[in-house]
Parts: sequence; structure tokens; C-alpha cells
Amino acid sequence: MIRVLSVVSEMFPVVKTGGLGDVAGALPAALAAAGAETTTMLPGYPAVIAALTDATAAHEFADLFGGPATVLRGSAAGLDVLVVDAPHLYARAGNPYLGADGREWADNGLRFAGLGAAGAAMAAGVAPGHDFDIVHAHDWQAAMAIVYLNFHPGERPGTVLTVHNLAFQGLYPAALFPRLGLPESAFSLNGLEYHGKVNFLKGGLSYADRITTVSPTYAQEIMGVENGMGLDGILRHRADVLSGIMNGIDDTIWNPATDPLIPGRFGRGKMARRALNKAALQQRMGLDQNPDALLIGLVTRMTTQKGLDMLVDLLDDLAADGIQLALLGAGDPDLEHAFVAAAEWNLGSVGCVIGYDETLAHLIEAGSDAFLAPSRFEPCGLTQLYALRYGAVPVVSRVGGLADSVIDANQAALAAGVATGIQFWPATPEALQSALHRLMALWRDKQAWERMQRNGMAADVSWRGPASRYVALYKSLLAERG
Ligand code: ADP
Repeated sequence: MIRVLSVVSEMFPVVKTGGLGDVAGALPAALAAAGAETTTMLPGYPAVIAALTDATAAHEFADLFGGPATVLRGSAAGLDVLVVDAPHLYARAGNPYLGADGREWADNGLRFAGLGAAGAAMAAGVAPGHDFDIVHAHDWQAAMAIVYLNFHPGERPGTVLTVHNLAFQGLYPAALFPRLGLPESAFSLNGLEYHGKVNFLKGGLSYADRITTVSPTYAQEIMGVENGMGLDGILRHRADVLSGIMNGIDDTIWNPATDPLIPGRFGRGKMARRALNKAALQQRMGLDQNPDALLIGLVTRMTTQKGLDMLVDLLDDLAADGIQLALLGAGDPDLEHAFVAAAEWNLGSVGCVIGYDETLAHLIEAGSDAFLAPSRFEPCGLTQLYALRYGAVPVVSRVGGLADSVIDANQAALAAGVATGIQFWPATPEALQSALHRLMALWRDKQAWERMQRNGMAADVSWRGPASRYVALYKSLLAERG
């Protein structure tokens, strides 16, 4: 078994703000089946400490960026974890990254340098009996583990950095650098210096042995200026170690045949029961109880990345066409207000719940006829994978992992009987509108519609394939390092 230390800032079901948490929670079991055992290192937020069982102290830091810290070994949600118990950094209620005012915690630089430093120390063998072959760091919050390991004088494990979203980089004033305890050479073009600032993600990208991102198309896109978020240069420079591995979904949690969060459990052989979920969703969202209305669902962070501003202007037209919309999301206050207003204006046709609600997210996937993800960019996207699994026909922009996971219902795909949804491009209101017109035409053709639903539900969106690709990557890295 390959021994992996996964360093990450969230893990479902203990703490989750998005897809990163889903991946961190689901990948260990899939990797175990494919030949790698994972220990997950997490910051000791209150929710993590509360979920921790069988804890023993593995290592003490007298001072981890401003206070003492203990690395606790134990389990959480059935997974092996190392928890960085550093109250001065993590003992705060609420969101892992944001204060109650919705702004980043002012000391996030130190908080996630702390996670990285603790991860690097454990990986470098500071605590006897904890040995790892690979450190797998996720996103900017964990990238510093790779930076610290790069400057570790002795033996070190191989390092893999997975980019879940290049838009978030961990960018801080140069004044942070002297506090990080790194050699001067780290603050350079080939290190974590970025236009005179400290960029955690760039540090990880500079020093990782392997870089992955969460879909093959996004791996290509981020090497270009348009989607490189200012890091396309370093990504092109490291193209030989960059690859894309699509995310999977946890099909024990997202399984329509066994899902305890939906009223009508169903499968490809029992599709009629799906109507129970549609009726329940219509009721929950205040939509007219009409089984024949085309009901489109969305579950999303409400940001410009997710393209929701394009949808706002179309809502009145959609309602006039008899289409229903069920949206669950939270984020940008302006977008939240616009959707709430549209829901009031289009009573019975547009339903909108602002907030975070795991149960409602399952009901939307299970009860909507179609599922919309009009992102401007999308590293992988999980919600369209859940939609495929739950028989909600995905309508997606042709970017990143959305492009890689949905087969567009064009003439050829329909003729061959392989379509699973609709793709549109560019990400503009006009293209979205014409995609929705195509969707309506397909909705009227029940045979074609059911074929798409069945194809989607049969698609393999599990972690099995992706996990074996990660293990192959670990093996090739270990072979190269000898
Ligand atoms: P991202 O990580 O960019 O937000 P993904 O599609 O990769 O997007 O993952 C989003 C995850 O978060 C999915 O599991 C989705 O169901 C969940 N999610 C997003 N918003 C909400 C919400 N308001 N309530 C419940 N779950 C949500």
C-alpha cells in the first residue's frame, strides 16, 4: 500500500464549503480500493475537534505562528486524520475561511502557512511512526506543505498538488514573507513571489513534483492566458508534470436508489417514483403543482464564476414559457437579491432558497427534470455529475469539467443515442437562452428525453476510474524518485 498524507482545509461531512470538501471526504475510500491508504490532515476548527475520536497526541509545536499547537491523530467520519489543534489559528466558529462579516480572516496567511508547516513536518518524519510516501496537497490552503517540504534538508516524500480552483490563490503582502520561516530564495520568480507579493498557490505550483487539476479540459485551459488567472506562465513552464484527473462522486451518499434525503427512491428500472420527488420539490419551493411543467434546478455558490447573472435576465421569459426554476444557493448579495425578487415577481414559477441546505440539494437533484450549470469557468463541477446520476438532464456551458462530463444532444449524438445533456458556448445570455430552447424541444420529445435520462444515469461518474489514475500517478512518481 502506498501511504498518502492528504493535506486539505475541508472534508465532508465534517466541514464543507464546496466541491473540495466532497473530494477530500470521498477520495480516501476510493484510493484504498485502488492501492493507497490515506491519512487526512485538517485544521482543528471547532467542527473538526468535535468530530474527532480516539485522539492521541502525535506531535507538539511550541510555537506554530503565534501559539502552541498539537497534532492529534485519530479518526473523524470514519477516516484516519491528523488534526492541527492550534486554538490561536482555528478555534473560531463559522466558515473556515471567512469571518461573520463575510471577509477573509485577517490572519489567513498564517492560518494556512500553519497547516502547511504542520503537514510538512509530519511528512518529513518529525513524529516517529508516521511515515508517508506521498504528500497530496489540495489547493492554496495546503500548498505551503509542498513549499516547506521543498526546503526540508533531509529525505522527503513525493509531492502532488491538486488545483481545485485556480481563482483562489492565497495572495498576501510581501510583509508576510519574513514570518514564514523560509530561505530568501523562496521569494523569487521560481518560488512563491508573484508581482511583489506572496502567492501560496504559486509556491506549490513551483515546487510540486506533480500537479493535477480536476478535469482534463481545465488542465488545458489553465495554461492559456484567458483562464490562467495570472498563473498560466508557471503552468506552461510545468506542463510536463501537469495533468487532469476528473473528479468522481461518492455514490454511497449520492445514490438515488438508497438516498435517505429524498421521498421517492428510484433507479433506471423504477423511474415512475421520481415523480414523488418532483412533487415534493414543487411544494418545498412554492412552485405550482404541475407534473408536466419543465422544472430546472440549480444548486450553486452565487458568484459570477457560476454565471448566475446571465440567468437573472431570462427568468421572466422562462416563466412566461411555462418553465419552472428551483434554485438553492448563497453568495453575492446582489445576485441573492435579484433571485429573491424574481421569485416574488414570478410566484409559482421561480422558487429560490438562499442558504446552505444539504437535504434540499439532494431533493433538487432528484426532483428537477433538468439541472443548469452555466459557469464561465468550471474546474470540474460536481453538481452536474450528481444530476447525471439522478436523472436530471444537465444543461452546461462548454468549459472545464462540464465539457468533459456531458455529451451534448447534437444531431449526431441523438442519432447515435448517446446524448446525456446539453452544452452551450459561449457563456452568454443569448447562448444560454438558445440552449434552453433546445431543452424545451427535447422535453416535448418524451422518447428522446427518457433516452438522455437513462444514458446519464448509466454513465460512470464514480471515483473508481479517477482513484486508479491517482494511484498510477503516485506510482510513476515513486518510481521516478527511486
Ligand atoms: P464549487 O466547489 O465550485 O462550489 P462544485 O460543483 O465542485 O462547485 O461543488 C459544489 C458542492 O457544494 C456540491 O456538493 C453542491 O451540492 C454543494 N453546494 C453548493 N451550494 C450549496 C448550497 N447552497 N446548499 C447545499 N449544497 C451546496
